[in-house]
Amino acid sequence: PGASYGVLPRPCHALVLLNPQSGAGRALDDFHAVVQPMLADADITPSIFITERPHHAQEKMRDEDLSQWDTLVVMSGDGLLHEVVNGLMERPDWEEAMKKPLCILPGGSGNALAASINYYAGNDHVAKKKLLTNCTFILCKGLHTQMDLVSLSTASGKRFFSFLGFGWGFIADVDIDSEKYRRLGNARFTLGTLQCLARLRVYQGRLSYLPAGPEHGGAPPALPEGGTEGALPADSLLVPLGQPVPASWAVVPEEEFVCVYAIYQSHLGTNLLMAPAARLDDGCIHLFYVRAGISRVALLKVFLAMGRGTHLDLGCPHLHHVPVRAFRLEPRGSAGVMTVDGEALACEPVQGQVHGRLCRIPRA
Ligand code: ADP
Ligand code: MG
Repeated sequence: PGASYGVLPRPCHALVLLNPQSGAGRALDDFHAVVQPMLADADITPSIFITERPHHAQEKMRDEDLSQWDTLVVMSGDGLLHEVVNGLMERPDWEEAMKKPLCILPGGSGNALAASINYYAGNDHVAKKKLLTNCTFILCKGLHTQMDLVSLSTASGKRFFSFLGFGWGFIADVDIDSEKYRRLGNARFTLGTLQCLARLRVYQGRLSYLPAGPEHGGAPPALPEGGTEGALPADSLLVPLGQPVPASWAVVPEEEFVCVYAIYQSHLGTNLLMAPAARLDDGCIHLFYVRAGISRVALLKVFLAMGRGTHLDLGCPHLHHVPVRAFRLEPRGSAGVMTVDGEALACEPVQGQVHGRLCRIPRA
């Protein structure tokens, strides 16, 4: 079955969750200057909810009466949408709640999903105000379609639903170390990359995955565990972390990495086209890993090429890309960080699998 399309009603009532601290701290000003006039023209009435602290949006989404809203809009970085998705998935009525179209307007320093939506729409690469204008325009048109999510589980029993990516090693370190430069906007990642390159290190662990195979019909839809209404979607491809991976999985023979990144959208950041082939509902996790032994110069070349999405054409022998349905990462030791949708996570064994078309998102 293909993706189902939808259209927002008019007039349209939008709940806008806005993080005033995201990015350079201009989200509220930009909303009034750029977004509000466009919404007014499109007969979309926004109600603004300003987040006051981490997890505020997540708690609101867990308890909100959703029947009053036609769409939920996030004006922040990817981190706030991660909270919204996970708040919705904590509801007993998550299957119904996840039918509500979600929208992201780039207001943060990490706006990877916004950049990806702009790319899927066939628009030219843009950043800052132009990206905000493009994303607002796509929202105003009102078309929406389905998007895959990835369910991630950790050894300590946490479970997340993720729309963007999971990272460990170099890229995760850049993401988290550069938080202190958030006020620089997207430039935080350039500065962070150069700093992390200077003290490049190796991360030890075991990486396994279930290859996606040649059929590209998307992933099957998520079904509640045991067929019980309200139960979370079952991770049918995974076995418990304490057990060896199933025989159909591949295990990477090398156990020393510079980074591992599992991405499910095209863009890792506004200026990083990591998975040019990725689509909203391709049923794929694009698993990238860089083996240890790569030189600083070669790694820098990979990142520079990623600006245009040509890094896989470099023929770099240390860089690998595999489309997968599920993966497992077992780091040796707990030093360092992991990231989920750009948010920090303590380092521990993690596995994840794709769930087809679990939420709705605007399309051009
Ligand atoms: P950025 O791209 O700039 O990192 P995010 O949307 O990812 O923007 O937000 C970063 C973090 O800020 C999220 O983890 C979110 O929970 C948190 N947050 C939300 N509202 C506030 C607030 N008022 N003050 C501080 N942090 C907040
Ligand atoms: Mg963030």
